[in-house]
Amino acid sequence: MVINYQKELDKTLFNISKSGETPTLLLHSCCAPCSSYVLEYLSGLFKITIFYYNPNISPKSEYDIRADEQMKFISMLKPKNEINIIEGNYNADAFYNIAKGLENEKEGGARCFKCYELRLGEAARLAKEKNYDYFTTTLSVSPYKNAAWLNEIGEKLEQQYDVKYLYSDFKKKNGYKRSIELSNIYNLYRQNYCGCEFSKRDI
Ligand code: SF4
Repeated sequence: MVINYQKELDKTLFNISKSGETPTLLLHSCCAPCSSYVLEYLSGLFKITIFYYNPNISPKSEYDIRADEQMKFISMLKPKNEINIIEGNYNADAFYNIAKGLENEKEGGARCFKCYELRLGEAARLAKEKNYDYFTTTLSVSPYKNAAWLNEIGEKLEQQYDVKYLYSDFKKKNGYKRSIELSNIYNLYRQNYCGCEFSKRDI
C-alpha cells in the first residue's frame, strides 16, 4: 500500500495546533534551499533546531559553502519561534564506509539509501541524546529523493531510539517549487549536484 506521508503530516500538525503546545524538532537539513520551505512551513508550530550533518558532501570546500549558506539563511529569518542550528561532524570516512562497493550506483540507487540512513541515524541519535520531541529531515523536498525510503528509515529509527519521527513528504503542496521561490527571494546558493563525488561525476 502506498502511504501518503503528507496526509500523515497533516494529521500530526492538526493535533499539535489543537494541543496549543510547541514541541521541539531536530530538523536534519541537507542545504539552505531545501530548509527554506520546511522552515517557512513548520517554524510557527515547532521550536526548531537545524542539524546540518552532511559528511557525504565532497569536496570539503563545497561542504563549507553549503554550511555557510545554511547559517546565513537562518540569520536572515525572523521566525515566530527561535531557530537554532547544530553543525555535525564532517566525518567523510563515515560516508565512504557506507558507500563502499556502491560507487557506481546511479543517484537514487542503493548508495543513496545508505546515505539517508547515515544522516538520519545521526539525527535520531542526537534527538534522543538531547531530548527533542521529534526529528525529521528536509531531504524529501527534492523530487530526486525517495520519500518512501526516508519515512521507512525514520520509522525504524523512531523505534530504535524511542524518539518520534515526523513523517513527511515535503515536495507535496508545491514544496519544491516554493523552495526555489524562496531561494530566489533570499538569493541562496543552489548547487548543481546532490553532494557526493559520485553524484558530481554523473552530472
Ligand atoms: S547521490 Fe546524494 S543521496 Fe545519493 S549517495 Fe550521493 S550524496 Fe548521498
